[in-house]
This record gives sequence, structure tokens and C-alpha cells, in this order.
Amino acid sequence: MSGSEAKNTEPEESVVKETSVIKESPVEDSKVEVSELKDPAVKVPSAAPTPAASTSWISLRNILSISIIIIALLASPRFFNFDFGQSTPCETSYLILTAHPDDEAMFFAPTILSLVNAGCPVRGLCLSEGNESGLGRTRKEELVASYEALGVKKEFIEILDHPELQDGPTKDWPKFVIDNIVSSYLSMHHIDTIITFDQTGISQHPNHIAVSRVSAPRREIWKLQSPSILSKYTGPLSVISHYLPFSQSTSTTGKKGKKGKKAKVVKIKVFTTSPFGWARGVWAMTRHKTQLVWFRWLYLAASRLMWINEFEVVAG
Ligand SMILES: [Zn+2]
Repeated sequence: MSGSEAKNTEPEESVVKETSVIKESPVEDSKVEVSELKDPAVKVPSAAPTPAASTSWISLRNILSISIIIIALLASPRFFNFDFGQSTPCETSYLILTAHPDDEAMFFAPTILSLVNAGCPVRGLCLSEGNESGLGRTRKEELVASYEALGVKKEFIEILDHPELQDGPTKDWPKFVIDNIVSSYLSMHHIDTIITFDQTGISQHPNHIAVSRVSAPRREIWKLQSPSILSKYTGPLSVISHYLPFSQSTSTTGKKGKKGKKAKVVKIKVFTTSPFGWARGVWAMTRHKTQLVWFRWLYLAASRLMWINEFEVVAG
């Protein structure tokens, strides 16, 4: 494990406790019911539930609450934790390299929030304005607002409008153009690690895939692993399963080697977020008003990538 990896394990552990479970407690509900009955302004409904029905309802609530607590304990208390940041300074600088405005919120929010909370320098470079529908200027402003919602300041964000990197699934983005732009950016801003797409590009968008091919000598590149169809919409269950004792997710895993060859070791970085962090990711995505069509809401509600990011670490 390199020095920078050792530093970067801390964001994963900086997830903290949430109190929403307490709000769901049947004790709290009982208090509300009592105070309502004492209020003379409140009319008692004529068809009040019978004692037997109330008991049954309370029992059901008890069972649900206990189930939630057991699942939470199994999953690890970290899932329900808020992140208050940490005191250890982070000296590694990161670049979030994306293709379009909204990629950062839809795919990388757990990572950006974890790194920002850890005090790491995080920059965003978006290679196009997302001008396929002629909304480039608006989307540029939306990108800045989204990054700010995730804790990255405006001056750390850059968005390009390069003639050879125009938004669109039929546009072929030349690798040498991307490499040249990224190379000068890395030198100018002293970036240590690039965070970007993997070869599938999450949605198989050709622009995402083109970005994933970036080269960056002497730097680490973290490639966001595209979830399988089965796991793509597991939402918070993805974090719970990650923390379960029998989870297969580890910080380092191995790949099978071919016969007679040494197995290749693949380093994996994982960032998760809390329900609070998920809400912040959703808030960032709502800054992209031009992109909030109905099915995006479904995505925000159910996507695994709003809760967990898993990266393969490769040499640039
Ligand atoms: Zn995109």
C-alpha cells in the first residue's frame, strides 16, 4: 500500500451516526398521540381505533423498528453516521474528470463528499458543456452550482467547450486531445490522482468511455466500476451489503490469473455515504434543472451510485 493510499483510506471511515431511527421509535409516536388528546382544539375522531387494533398496530411498529435496528447493527453503525469531517490533513490532490455536467452528481457524489469532508483538495474538470441540446451555457452554470452543493468551490471547477470534444453519442473524442488537455491541467494544478469512468462508462455513453481512456504518467487513476444490471438499482442496500460481515467487498482483491501465470492483484477503493450524504447528492443533482426529467428522479431514488462508489486503481 502506497503512502497516498494509506492517507486515502480515511474518508471511507469518516462516515458517522444518524438519528432518524430514533424518530421512528414507537415511544415517540406514543408521546405524539398523548399530546394530541390533551389539546382541547383537537377533535377526537368518532371512529377511533379499538384498543385491540391499536395494540396490533403498535406491535407491527415494534417489529419494524426492531428489524431496522438489527439490520443497522449488522450493516455497521457507520451506515447511519453523519460525517463531521476529520482533523488529519489530506495532502493528496484529486481531479474529478467527467464528460458532461451532471456526471459528478449522478455518479461520483459519495466520493466527492468523502474527500471534501476529509479535507482533501478536490478539483473538477468537465470536458464538455453538454451542449447537445443547445443548453451549454445553462448547463455550465448548473455544473458550478452542483459542485458547490457537494462542497467544491467555484474556483476549483473548469468546464471546456473544445471543438473536438462536443457532447453527443455520435461524437468521437480523440484520445490525444484528452491526454493533452489533462496533462497540462495536472501539471498546472499539481494533481496526484484522477477519478473518472471505467471502460464501460457506467451508461456506455461513448463520451464517458472516451474519457476513461485517458493516460496520465506518474499519476494514479481511479476508475469507477460500472455496476451490473442486477446491482445498479440497489440504493442503500448496496451500502448495507458492503458492511455486512460476509461481504465480498474489500480494499484489495485479486483476479484469477491464466494458467501458469501469476494472478493479477487489483486494488479497489470504496467510498460510501450516509443517508445525509445521499440527500446532499440529490440536492446537487437538483441544481441540474435542465436534466431533471421524471426518470432521473427514479434514478436518484434507487441508484447504487448515489450511495457507494467502487474504483479500480490503475497506474496512469
Ligand atoms: Zn455524462
